[in-house]
This record gives sequence, structure tokens and C-alpha cells, in this order.
Amino acid sequence: MSAMKDLIAFQRETEALGQISGRLEWDQETMMPSGAATQRGEELAALQSVLHARKTDPRLGDWLEAAQPETKVETAILRDVRKSYDRMRKVPAELDAEIARVMSKSQGVWAEARSKDDFGSFVPTFERVVALKREEGQALANGTDKTVYDAMLDDYEPDATASDMAVMFDEMRPTLVSLREAVLAAEPAPVLDFDFDEAGQLEISNKLAQAFGYDFTKGRIDKAVHPFSSGSGTDVRITTRTSARDPFNCFYSTIHEVGHACYEQGIDDAYFLTPLGQGVSMGVHESQSRIYENQLGRSRAFTGYLYGLMRDQFGDFGIANEDIFYRAVNAVNKGYIRTEADELQYNLHVMLRFELEQALMAGDLQVVDLETAWNDAFKRDFGYEVDKPSNGVLQDVHWPVGLFGYFPTYSLGNLYAGCLYDALKRDVPTLEADLSKGEVSNATNWLRGNLQHHGGLRTPVQTIEHACGTPPSAQPLMTYLTDKFKGLYSL
Ligand code: ZN
Repeated sequence: MSAMKDLIAFQRETEALGQISGRLEWDQETMMPSGAATQRGEELAALQSVLHARKTDPRLGDWLEAAQPETKVETAILRDVRKSYDRMRKVPAELDAEIARVMSKSQGVWAEARSKDDFGSFVPTFERVVALKREEGQALANGTDKTVYDAMLDDYEPDATASDMAVMFDEMRPTLVSLREAVLAAEPAPVLDFDFDEAGQLEISNKLAQAFGYDFTKGRIDKAVHPFSSGSGTDVRITTRTSARDPFNCFYSTIHEVGHACYEQGIDDAYFLTPLGQGVSMGVHESQSRIYENQLGRSRAFTGYLYGLMRDQFGDFGIANEDIFYRAVNAVNKGYIRTEADELQYNLHVMLRFELEQALMAGDLQVVDLETAWNDAFKRDFGYEVDKPSNGVLQDVHWPVGLFGYFPTYSLGNLYAGCLYDALKRDVPTLEADLSKGEVSNATNWLRGNLQHHGGLRTPVQTIEHACGTPPSAQPLMTYLTDKFKGLYSL
């Protein structure tokens, strides 16, 4: 066999083992008996060490040197395997193991500190987290011209840099800040005041998943505390949740996760169990979940259809017509929590985290000063005081488990979704009429053909440019948000 064939065969097993690891994590959040937690930890750790050994196997180095790619697919596979191999070998095994140990402990300490609203009790553990991640970032940055932060960002968004992200946020901030102020000064949107039964919510959730193109023969929906999507290829599962007073939480969690899942389900079969057989980056992944959830799912046209579904399911739930319903779905309110933020304010939450995590990684901000820095930045950006750490610095699990450089990819996803929506409207002139009938397939087929199908073949920026025909920029998202919220709040 040739080096190329050997490498692809070896990689196929590595990818399959990675899928098994993901399925164990899915099971842990959905089906696993609570008494099995310790055993599951051992199972995952054992699999992790097998995966680590395979990803640093010296034979990979030989194959990478000898392989002669004959197609652009093989060239892209080599690019990804080489990148992973170089990355894994840069981080010493002891550091890697220590990071895994500290991060799993840290998550528990953080949860405890959050429940007690006591940042101080998390400081010693979090100092260790930050120190280890800086050490890892330094190891990754060695021999490159990257900063520690850029080296970490690259794990989630290949080739992106902090300075690109700063340009993006500088472009967004003035529009978002002034729009937000105007909206919050206007008459508030109506709120739902009704108890929506769980079975009815789940029935609609299933209909929505179907409408947005989720393939139930290669996936399933279960309930979990936090909605997520898991897996690639022919087994892509999602979770959702219900809340009696807030059915939108269920419906839009489902549509969001269906966006992630459809990306995975839509990838070319030819990339099955290769590095190209999954979403190319966190930002591009989030563009799919966001455009499904927001530009399509929260549009005036589609919410008109959803209103009818809800009336059929729940009867009169106190909202008189489609226009009022559209305002309720897109309500903008003051709040502390990123995951509960509306389309308009979401990116402001991300900007705050981007600023603070860069300072932490650069060593310019000490952990012991983080809570004050957070509260000051929040007051500056949102105009009111954080009332408690669980509504502030302790709200997200990302930093406690060492995910630095992850947050900006959420905003990048929103930005990409704005670009894709412009191109989609251009290419599918019937879009609005389709959505008002609950007919999403013209939109999802466009996304599948132009973006999802190509998996990891191109870089993230090339992937968006290929789909849209123009390079990504923040302008389409800013125009979309301005038009939408000016209309909603009669500004
Ligand atoms: Zn998402």
C-alpha cells in the first residue's frame, strides 16, 4: 500500500474512535444512570489515551513525509492530519495529562462556587487553569509567529487571529450599542403568560426539526439539561429541553441544534470518517445553527407559521395575532446571561469575554482581579451593575474547563450567518413565501449544496466565500439587525 492509503486507513479508525468518545459523552448527558459517573470517567480517559497515542503515532510522521496526494481531497486530508500531528506533538504528554486532570476537577469547583455565588472559592483552582492553559498556548505558539491567544483561537477557528476578531467587533459595536439603547427605550415587547404542556412542546419541536430538514433515520432527539448536537456522518444526535412558561426555549433550542446537526448530516459521503467529514470550524458551525434559528426561524414569515402550529396545539394562549407573536418571539430585554440574550445583545456579551480572556492569556489580568474587571466591563457595556457572580463572571462553563479563544467563534458564526442570509435571499427569491408556509427546504437545500456538502474541504473563510460569492464581512449582519429591530420597535 502507498503511504497515502496507509495514512487514510489509519485515520479512519482514529475518526471512528473519536465518534465513540462523542457517543459516550452524549450518553452521559441523556441516558447514563447517575451511579455510573466514575466508571464513565475511566472509560472516557482510557479512550482519550488511545486517541492521544494514535494522533502522535510516529508512523503518522513517516506517512506524512512520504504521502503523494493525487486529488484536492487528499491534499486537504494531509493538511488536516499534519496540523493535528504537529499540534499534538508540541504539547508535552505530562502537560496534556495535567490539563485533563485539572480541567475535570475545575468544572466541579466552578459549579460549587457558582451555586454559592462565591468567586473567591474558585480563584485558587482557576489560577491553576489559567497557568496551565498559558503554558499550553506557549508550547503551541513556539516556532510560529502567533501569540499565545492566537494559538488557542486556532484550535476552534483555523487561521483566525485576535486582530481579525478585534476588527470584527469594532465594526459591530457602534451599531449594536446605539440600536440596543433605542430598543430598550421603546415600548417593551409582549410576553407570554400561559402554561404550555411538555408533550405539546415536544410534538412541535419534532415538527420543527422535520421542517428544517433533520434526518431522523440518522439521528434522534432526547431531552438534556443543556441542548447540544453530537456526532458526525450517519449518527448525529441532538438534545432539547422544555420550560412550561417559555416554549420558545424548547423550539429555538431545537432549531439551533438542528442547524448544527444538518451541517454534519449534509456533508459529502466521500468524506466519511476522514478529517473533512465534519464541520470545518466552530464559527462556520455556529453560522448554520444561527441562520436556522434566527434569520429563518425568527423571521416574520416563519413565526407566522409557528403561531398557527402553537394555536393548533395549545388553543388560545393569549397572543392575539401573528404580528404580536413576532414581537414576543424577538423580545429584547435587559439581562445578564449570554445564553439567554436576544440576537441584538448577544454579540455584546461575547465582546466582553473576548477582551477579558485576551488579557488573562497575555498575563495582563490576574485571576484574583477578574471579578472586578468583569463587573466594570459589564457596567460600561450594559449600563447596570452585575448583581451576583452567577449572573456575571461565573455564568459560563467555558473558562473553568480551559476553553479560551472559543467565545469569539459565536460572534463569527453570527457574522457568517448574516453573509449567508444575504446570498440565500438573492438565490432563493421565494424564500419569504416559502417560510410563511413552514416550507424551509428551499433554504436548507441551498445551504446544504453551497456550504454543508463541502465539510472541511476548504478553510473556514474560503468555505463562506465559496457559498456567498464574496468575502465575509460584518455589514450584512449589521444591516439585517438594524432593519429587523427598527421594524419591530417602530424606531
Ligand atoms: Zn451552537
